[in-house]
Amino acid sequence: MVEEMRAKWCEDLEELLQCPVCFERPESPVKQCERGHHICNVCKDLITECPLCKCRFSNARSYLAEELSIKLDDIKLSLLHPMHSLNNRGRNSVGSQTETNVVIAKNGSKITKRAPPEAPKGKFPCRIGTCVETLPHGRMIPHIRFYHKNKFHESNCTSENMYQQVWEMEYYKNVKYDLAIRVAEMGLFFMHIKIDDNGDLFGVVQIVGTNYIGKEFNYELKIMSSQRISIFKDKVCSCVTSPMSLFENIDCLSINHKDMTRMIAGSDTFTCIMILTRLP
Ligand SMILES: [Zn+2]
Ligand SMILES: [Zn+2]
Ligand SMILES: [Zn+2]
Repeated sequence: MVEEMRAKWCEDLEELLQCPVCFERPESPVKQCERGHHICNVCKDLITECPLCKCRFSNARSYLAEELSIKLDDIKLSLLHPMHSLNNRGRNSVGSQTETNVVIAKNGSKITKRAPPEAPKGKFPCRIGTCVETLPHGRMIPHIRFYHKNKFHESNCTSENMYQQVWEMEYYKNVKYDLAIRVAEMGLFFMHIKIDDNGDLFGVVQIVGTNYIGKEFNYELKIMSSQRISIFKDKVCSCVTSPMSLFENIDCLSINHKDMTRMIAGSDTFTCIMILTRLP
């Protein structure tokens, strides 16, 4: 348990420090935007505005990022291998030890605040559109923020252990709606709604995490119009399984085109409601 928390701290520190463009740990000099978001020196020359806030870059350096970048390997070593000889030496040096604790304390309070399930290990596929990235959980959020910004929703629970979101969607043949939803207290999810060549509709919600973590969650998809409603409820499964294979096996929400035509009743839109519930 303690080991897992330490590993999580290491991942969080890497995530905090990484460049939002290339996701690498930046080397000195590290530049920052007018609002203080840092970026690596290589990527700064490739883009003109901050990918996180669209501000311009200033000439100020981020000395904190530079220092932390240099010390991070030692910090990780002391967290993951406390008995390592380097740490025994470090224990005599009050200065470096104090600094380590400050960083962890800051980060620790951030973890307590959002308290989602423990971060899963391993890599997960990004399931937005035709994206082929496979990334560790900690890097998926910056990736989606940067590359799939218009398909990304970030929010908190709408009530205790529950998150609900409503979309108005257009009904056309051969379309796919992929969305990434990050609920601070729950984690990161993909929602896929697909309408095939026949007009049959399929839908599923997946978690960026393992099936084991997914078991903590139920999702409900409601497809409705003023005329009709269709409801599907299931456990959330891992995004490691391709949504296409779930659609093929009808292991998901499924409404055939005749029912969809009756539902939309001459209009070309329907309402999609997603409810995520975290089980006690
Ligand atoms: Zn970079
Ligand atoms: Zn910025
Ligand atoms: Zn992607």
